[in-house]
Amino acid sequence: HAKRRDNSVCPYTQTMRHALERRQWMTERLHQAILGHRLELYFQPQFSLADKTLTGAEALCRWYDPEWGWVSPGEFIPLAEERGLIRMLGDWVLEEAASQLGVWQAKHTPLPGKLSINISAQQFADPQLTAHVAKLTTGVPPGAIALELTESDFMRDPDQAVTITHSMRRAGYALFIDDFGTGYSSLSYLRRFAADALKIDISFVRDMLDNHHDRAIVQTIIAMADTLDMKTLAEGVESPAQADLLAKMGCSEAQGYWFGHPLPADEFAATWLMP
Ligand code: C2E
Ligand code: CA
Ligand code: CA
Ligand code: CA
Repeated sequence: HAKRRDNSVCPYTQTMRHALERRQWMTERLHQAILGHRLELYFQPQFSLADKTLTGAEALCRWYDPEWGWVSPGEFIPLAEERGLIRMLGDWVLEEAASQLGVWQAKHTPLPGKLSINISAQQFADPQLTAHVAKLTTGVPPGAIALELTESDFMRDPDQAVTITHSMRRAGYALFIDDFGTGYSSLSYLRRFAADALKIDISFVRDMLDNHHDRAIVQTIIAMADTLDMKTLAEGVESPAQADLLAKMGCSEAQGYWFGHPLPADEFAATWLMP
């Protein structure tokens, strides 16, 4: 403990200690929640911009703690990554996603298109990732799954990324590059990654109606994707004006509050899946 000469605890150190204690406590609660299967998956629909049909959904992890209420994935996912819990969490997500696809299939409300599953950098670092995903999603055809990896995860070790993405593609999984535009991938690397789609980061979509720089970036991403025979999926579409402009610019798909919020599995099925 950092004591001052007069033996009082420095207030700065005290605040830091409280933050550390909260994180430590939160790590333990998260660990218990994963083990106790108390996390939940929500599903957000994805649509074709040309004809507004459902092309798939993204699985998004949710955590409700009885004491704290909802904890944002923006807080607990980085914590899980930092504290060595992300593989365990990621395994649960893969199993739960596969089981949900099975339930919809059995109820004759299959999800059209693909279910997108977020994969974190540490899962991606596993050279056996493709086999691991196949094991955890047994019974689900690989064609029903898209794995989402962020652009920065790809660029951390591009050569390893090339190897792993090719193995995923050979196995039949689709691959989406998440948060695209925020990393620094070059056209030449993009060509080598066997990806199916670029997900245009929400930060460019948010202001694209008013900000011509953002609009130019979106247009450039769409042009790059066209050159490389990839699809584009815009995230964070919140208004019909954004959807119209994106469609006009040649973006293939979109996801966002204007189309539909992330929902628990039952509500998602009731709202979006045909009986
Ligand atoms: P992401 O993969 O970029 O997911 C998109 C985020 O945008 C989600 O936040 C989603 O709820 C939110 N979103 C969707 N439409 C809109 C919109 O129209 N406007 C705005 N402002 N936001 C929108 P969420 O669910 O809070 O997740 C945050 C991040 O946490 C995700 O970003 C992803 O990086 C991570 N995450 C969530 N679930 C998982 C998971 O199962 N595994 C891993 N590894 N990461 C996850
Ligand atoms: Ca994502
Ligand atoms: Ca994203
Ligand atoms: Ca993100």
